[in-house]
Amino acid sequence: MRALESSRQRDAEGRDIPNSQTATGFPPVPPEGSPKAGPVEARTQAGQAKGRMDVRQAITDRIIAMLEKGGNVFRERWTQAASRGMPRNGKTGAPYHGANVLLLWDAAIEHGYASNVWLTYKQAASMGAQVRRGERGVLCAHFERKATGHQNDAGNDVGGNGAAHGEGEGGAGDNAYGGHSGNSGNSVHSSVLLCMPFWLFNVAQVDGLPASVPDRSEDAETWTDRSPIEGAMRFIGGCRPNIQHGYTRGAYSPAADRIMLPDVDRFTSPEAYCATALHELVHWTGHEKRLNRTFGARFGDAAYAFEELVAELGCAFVLGHIGLVDATIEGHAAYLDSWLQVLRNDRTAIFTAARHAGEAYEFILARELPLPDSDG
Ligand SMILES: [Zn+2]
Repeated sequence: MRALESSRQRDAEGRDIPNSQTATGFPPVPPEGSPKAGPVEARTQAGQAKGRMDVRQAITDRIIAMLEKGGNVFRERWTQAASRGMPRNGKTGAPYHGANVLLLWDAAIEHGYASNVWLTYKQAASMGAQVRRGERGVLCAHFERKATGHQNDAGNDVGGNGAAHGEGEGGAGDNAYGGHSGNSGNSVHSSVLLCMPFWLFNVAQVDGLPASVPDRSEDAETWTDRSPIEGAMRFIGGCRPNIQHGYTRGAYSPAADRIMLPDVDRFTSPEAYCATALHELVHWTGHEKRLNRTFGARFGDAAYAFEELVAELGCAFVLGHIGLVDATIEGHAAYLDSWLQVLRNDRTAIFTAARHAGEAYEFILARELPLPDSDG
């Protein structure tokens, strides 16, 4: 994607990321009685104001904490949560994207919420409902590009690429941040990409919601009575990748544009075969003919591990969508330590990874083979 190209400005120098603003490592919650349920512009406008929340760092810390639980743990948690579908807003129905999805999935598992429907405090109030006293919201991030006559006066990202879109992380993470990048003289566009916090509450935390707010979003239900294997096959079949069997482990070769897999009977289960094939299918979406994902310029030696993180996240999105939980991706090396290193050194990396994973997920979903006319 074109947006990647301008990421070259922000590699390699040893960044000194202050931790003091997020000393607890937990996302702050809105103060009781006056929740900040929407973008908190006052904070970003305050620039260098003392105590300004570093949203990217707070969210990165949170996701690092998920990954540090270990590969099997976070995979299981994500796919479990994902089997309830992508998190959605209960008022608008809009799905959340990117890193917000991971944050909401993890919170749902952590607190045992059965629902994947979320609201801001204000949205709940606007429908005559009330977030229960003492309930904590989940910190999410909203990116917004703002034109500005001054450079970096918001103390936030300066970047010229990509347009923020929707509720997600469009364009985010490929940008330099915090004025440390040394590119501030290169004002391609006079705009800043603001990363603004907002807090979401699960419908399970809200009393008095009208019946019009679903307690589960529909896409979760549509999959419950279908076979996850059928779902996997419809995605793989719809993408029509070049797959060759007979290898000792799963891999994708960008040079040959080929997915290589062990023979089906070498897997412990059909589910494991599908999960592994879908993981490789996410790599396949990154080919230059498709989404053209390359990370070398930005991440250098860590680029390979970073692509693995994208594949891991993208695969979790797909597995969740088809309800293929508890499936192991077999024969694939774990890159957990490398991911953690990248994320610790770069507080925008997780937004980039989650955005690319979301694009891969959408790419695969768009190619799904249609359902047969009827089961009968
Ligand atoms: Zn892989």
